[in-house]
Amino acid sequence: MGQTLQIERANQLKNKPDVSTIKFGTVFTDYMFTSRYTPEYGWSEHSIIPYQNLQLSPSCQAIHYGQSVFEGLKAYKNGDDVLVFRPDQNFKRMNQSLSRLSMPEINEENALDALLELLKVERDWVPDGEGQSLYIRPFVFADEPFLGVRPSESYQFNIILSPVASYYGNQLNPSSLYVEDDFVRSVRGGVGFAKASGNYAASLLAQKKANELGYEQVLWLDGVEQKYVEEVGSMNIFFVRDNELVTPKLNGSILPGITRKSLIELAEYKGYTVKEESIHIDDLANDLHSGRITEVFGAGTAAVISPVGRLNIHGVDHIVNDNQIGPVSQDLYDHFTDIQYGRREDPFGWVVKL
Ligand SMILES: *Cc1c(COP(=O)(O)O)cnc(C)c1O
Repeated sequence: MGQTLQIERANQLKNKPDVSTIKFGTVFTDYMFTSRYTPEYGWSEHSIIPYQNLQLSPSCQAIHYGQSVFEGLKAYKNGDDVLVFRPDQNFKRMNQSLSRLSMPEINEENALDALLELLKVERDWVPDGEGQSLYIRPFVFADEPFLGVRPSESYQFNIILSPVASYYGNQLNPSSLYVEDDFVRSVRGGVGFAKASGNYAASLLAQKKANELGYEQVLWLDGVEQKYVEEVGSMNIFFVRDNELVTPKLNGSILPGITRKSLIELAEYKGYTVKEESIHIDDLANDLHSGRITEVFGAGTAAVISPVGRLNIHGVDHIVNDNQIGPVSQDLYDHFTDIQYGRREDPFGWVVKL
């Protein structure tokens, strides 16, 4: 990268929607960022253009062989300020995903500059209602028209923006999880740690099964022994056990969440003990049964903290904390979202303000 950013103005701007009534991921802003990779020029043609359909060859490689990765983060409004939460971490992780899928890495600093420029243009799209935010979706995919199996020679890096309502409304409603014993999300040596589009395609059938059985989400076990707790598919998982926080340690098949990492730092800062360890599913069942584990929650950008009220392990339902959010989850949620919205001091330097 390193080139100047072109801006192409739209002839007409969209009417801003009532964000409280829109469905997640259905409304997009007036502009998008786009850039292109070719072997000759590397990443170039950086521009902010009106949000529009892409033109692709039907033999475009991403469609056939899945070289496609993405990121997800949010911008928040506080008065006149727009605050972005740890965007550097997303571009860093995007490069780890790109590298694993044999795709060319982006320049993280230029990508951050481009995002901040796009957000300046789209400032008025950052909603300011309670719990609302602007969801940011950077993504890279292979666009070379070629059906041979080898890394594509050309790619696109785009960023689109979508205003979103609070995940919960006003209250943190506990969700239900189904521990999946058959299907796995990822395997040792695979692409589980990468935010690869294909990981989601592989997860959909188990998600459907969980929904049919009356559960909202899947809790995945490891793909090798199918005994150790991994994550929830778009969230990492935490437990409160003996008043300490416990989360599965990263092993290459778990997605290294930025919410996970930040929550660990925040919890330690607040004086909690945090343990990253291998969690056997039978131990989890026993600890839920005995009451050693008092709270369970998912952690990810979309919901920040999503309390779990019911967990099905090997056909047995475990109710957690009377299906209510627990005190530790609430405490961490409040502090974390206060930092994101700039309502409380950010001692970590996580928030980028514009
Ligand atoms: C994105 C994602 C998460 C959560 O990561 P955050 O950076 O906290 O949003 C967890 N698991 C999977 C599989 C994901 O794709």
